[in-house]
Amino acid sequence: YQKALHKECRLPAETVDGYRVEVVANIEMTEEVAQVLDSGGEGVGLYRTEYAYLSRPALPTEDQLYEEYSELASIMAPGKVIFRTLDVGADKMLTEQTLMREPNPALGLRAIRYCLRNIDVFKTQLRAILRASVHGNVALMFPMISGLQELRQAKVLLNEVRMELDRARQPYNPNMPVGIMIELPSAVLIADSLAQEVDFFSIGTNDLIQYSLGIDRGNKHVSYLYQPLHPAIVRSIKFVVDAAHREGIEVSVCGEVAADPYCIPILLGMQIDAISIAPQSIPGIKRIIRRTNMEECKTLLNEVLRTATVARINRVVKDTIFKQF
Ligand code: PEP
Ligand code: MG
Repeated sequence: YQKALHKECRLPAETVDGYRVEVVANIEMTEEVAQVLDSGGEGVGLYRTEYAYLSRPALPTEDQLYEEYSELASIMAPGKVIFRTLDVGADKMLTEQTLMREPNPALGLRAIRYCLRNIDVFKTQLRAILRASVHGNVALMFPMISGLQELRQAKVLLNEVRMELDRARQPYNPNMPVGIMIELPSAVLIADSLAQEVDFFSIGTNDLIQYSLGIDRGNKHVSYLYQPLHPAIVRSIKFVVDAAHREGIEVSVCGEVAADPYCIPILLGMQIDAISIAPQSIPGIKRIIRRTNMEECKTLLNEVLRTATVARINRVVKDTIFKQF
């Protein structure tokens, strides 16, 4: 079975009735690129950039980051690499954040909030990503955006960095796509406005579930409530996908949900453009997509959207999947 999976994994993720979805990888180290290519990943949809910050006693320099990012971009080219800007805090704490002793770090100064408070750290990273953008197919996204103002502030800083690079005659790609992660219920509800100001969305369901259902993603006592097929989550994702498509931008899902065989038909039914998952999940998920019928996914989605309880949704999904395979 493993051999058959491996043989098939380079084929496109296209349903039996011809709907194509891009399958890219979530990674956090450049060394993982070999595995991405070997498992049929078409690019990197989420490069978690925290490792360089968490693995050293001092903050990384611009040149260290530039070297890391340009190496990754050039190995992966022409496949794309989406660099997520620093998402420290909560489950990925810097020492200085640990010292802040926030009572609720998941609701604290994490991700884009930390970056907007520590502008030098943020700009150093933005400069490294922009400089790396000439070495491949590079995009950038901001995590944990809660509102328009935060997004605009981040974009102002990005523009400042572009101008600084112009002045220093450092090359960068002026058309590098800029997107955001949708991980907070507030971002879901204003997805229509956000979509007007970015090039793409990537839905981070790990955090979206945490913040929508009010459960700590690392707390085993409430893990039984971590339900990707909760109707609120299904509706949120659908709402975001529709808002993105109305504005003509692409939308992907990069949380664990996208690697869940029970969730995949529902995401397909929403006409998601891409999924980004752990490299080891790629061959199996591609195989499922290649055996799925898009029309059946749309029917399933409609039924799920009319269903009120998680238990019933799980039943409906299971019945459809067993019928299809
Ligand atoms: C997410 O929140 O779904 C996500 C992909 O980002 P991370 O798991 O790194 O928070
Ligand atoms: Mg997240």
